Amino acid sequence: MAEGDGPTPARGARVVLFPLPSQGHLSPMLHLASALHARGLAVTVLHTAYNAPDPAHHPGLAFVAVPDVIPEAVAATTNGIAKILALNAAMEASGHVRGALASLLAEEAGGQRLACLIFDSTLFAAQKAAAGLGLPTLVLHTGSAAGFRLFRSDTYNMLHDRGYLPATESNLHMPVKELPPLQVRDLFDPSKLPNKEIVQKILGRATESTTNSSGAILNTFEALESRELEMIRDELADRGIPPFAVGPLHKLTAAPSNDGADETSLLSQDRVCMEWLDARGPGSVLYVSFGSVVHVTADELVEIAWGLANSGVPFLLVVRRGLVVGVDKQELPDGFMAAVEGRGKVIEWAPQQEVLAHPAVGGFWTHNGWNSTLESIYEGVPMLSRPIFGDQLPTARYVCDVWRIGVLLEGVLERREVEKAIKKLMEEDEGVGIRGRAKDLKEKVRMCLESSGSSQLAVDKLVDHILSL
Ligand code: UDP
Repeated sequence: MAEGDGPTPARGARVVLFPLPSQGHLSPMLHLASALHARGLAVTVLHTAYNAPDPAHHPGLAFVAVPDVIPEAVAATTNGIAKILALNAAMEASGHVRGALASLLAEEAGGQRLACLIFDSTLFAAQKAAAGLGLPTLVLHTGSAAGFRLFRSDTYNMLHDRGYLPATESNLHMPVKELPPLQVRDLFDPSKLPNKEIVQKILGRATESTTNSSGAILNTFEALESRELEMIRDELADRGIPPFAVGPLHKLTAAPSNDGADETSLLSQDRVCMEWLDARGPGSVLYVSFGSVVHVTADELVEIAWGLANSGVPFLLVVRRGLVVGVDKQELPDGFMAAVEGRGKVIEWAPQQEVLAHPAVGGFWTHNGWNSTLESIYEGVPMLSRPIFGDQLPTARYVCDVWRIGVLLEGVLERREVEKAIKKLMEEDEGVGIRGRAKDLKEKVRMCLESSGSSQLAVDKLVDHILSL
């Protein structure tokens, strides 16, 4: 195990962190690792060989690869729930995680106590392995506080008992009075949901990953979700589980990289687009990206492309490899690039945080993955919300109806609707309030990250808690 050359940990305790190997889960865990290291803890990141982070980008952290635990066929599947269940089953069967944790515990003889495992909430097998070794665990939830409350087995059962689920065509717009502001259509996408048993199984395990933990870490901040955090505090208090709202994790510590690139990105980021942005007017560009996981159909990409072209708004569009399911590199429609010449740029993977921070960017068309949402909020960029599945649906509802910093683009993706939504966000009067509120929220998130801000204080408490375990 190689220790990096960062500051020497002073507090005599080591924590081991185990992220789910997908971009949206890996990044916040690595940012948490850096924050804990900056507070004087020694940190080891346990990771799979699949989607492994690059240790060279994280001086100061130690990395231990767990031998391949995810079969190739599983890595290739686009069904996220199947992937998570298979990964956990493979981890349990192989015993590799238990072996890695046992080795780290054995190294304690060197003088550094192994205080706990911090694991991604979906990696319940890792928690089981730690429990078997008597090692305490803390769980990291990489989504919102609202999502934390929604994606639990008791909530899911309640939604069935009270008739909200299974969703039907007639109740999709019904408000869920127990979970305002959510409507039935924000809960779980009925058309994409696997069978009830599988959902119950994964939510049951995810719920236990909190109830069996000595603490829950959330990538959100007080000024954004104070009501939801208050409820979580009340709910967990009975069980003696403290929650820590430490977000947005990507800005908790200063990035160590020297070229401005996101050191947690699994894909190489095309930084040439930054020069292209330099040549655009302030607030003029719509940045368009759907994260690392979701797919669109080939037809939807055509509608996206022509909607952008017809809007007349300058744009930076990310078409990552595999965005269209089953196609490695999707061609854009004939005539599109000529139609948007000088006004539109298409790339495969962006330095997203830098793009959002660029003064030329005035809006973000996003799938509302939680990291993208927090990154947009941090930069005060209003959103065009197009959620596809899972927690993206409730997040989009909060963006558009609670924080009111976005325009929701619902229904069948159609170029005229796309064009209208873009103009509403970027140009029309209705967008003025949305853009103003996004700027206000930016001030609030920055206050949470100041030295006495709520997120920094929560990290202090988290470190004290870890040292007390
Ligand atoms: N991202 C990036 N370049 C891109 C698109 C996305 O670096 O072109 C990063 C983005 O900054 C975010 C992550 O990928 O941190 C996506 O996470 P999110 O939770 O938004 O969505 P997911 O990929 O999990 O659906």
